[in-house]
Amino acid sequence: MSAIAACLENIRECIHAAAIRSGHDAAAVELLAVSKTHPIESIQQAIDAGQLVFGENRVQEILIKQPQLPSHVRWHLIGPLQSNKVRKVLPLVEMIHAVDSFDIAKDINRIGGELGLRPRVLIEINLGTESSKHGFNPTTIREQWAPLCALDKLNIQGVMCIPPFDPLPEKTRPYFVMLRELRDELEKRGGAPLPQLSMGMSHDYEVAIEEGATIVRVGSAIFGSRAAKA
Ligand SMILES: *Cc1c(COP(=O)(O)O)cnc(C)c1O
Repeated sequence: MSAIAACLENIRECIHAAAIRSGHDAAAVELLAVSKTHPIESIQQAIDAGQLVFGENRVQEILIKQPQLPSHVRWHLIGPLQSNKVRKVLPLVEMIHAVDSFDIAKDINRIGGELGLRPRVLIEINLGTESSKHGFNPTTIREQWAPLCALDKLNIQGVMCIPPFDPLPEKTRPYFVMLRELRDELEKRGGAPLPQLSMGMSHDYEVAIEEGATIVRVGSAIFGSRAAKA
């Protein structure tokens, strides 16, 4: 068994255990393998171990990697998206995690319409104002929720966050709770279901699952550390 296969097996067990102990459906939690900066060979090892959904934070990297891997592999864009890349990336990815402004939402809506797509997206929420410059804060998302919901080609599936880093996963729990509660509030207001909560990374995904995460974005715990900051 490859090291990557062993890591994946261990993480799947931890996901299962975290879901069970918190009364969540383990089958409803998607493990998104964050493969950014890692080579094709590593991704292929993960595929061989049964992993079929991968997250990248750059459009350019998806464009390079996707043609080299089996076509049944599914991709999520987890990083910020620039307007000039929307047309290229929409046909390639199953979900865009980090819709971080009304302007990019409008672009995705318009180009999605032109391409005959209904892009599945998550709205990025910035809960820890000092650490991340991306995303709607809880005030702006409440103000802009109705206009976002009016973008009829946008298939808003839920919300995501990247909380301020703390080495102690328990310290991040309040952010996961905040995101879940905000999701519940937006769901009530918008009327449409928001089933997806994308939260939790290598060091805190178990806590995120306990708080209801449906997609955990795990990179270094699967592939090892990244050489350069990505
Ligand atoms: C890189 C990245 C991850 C994965 O981080 P790890 O700590 O390596 O698990 C998750 N989410 C986003 C948005 C990322 O950019």
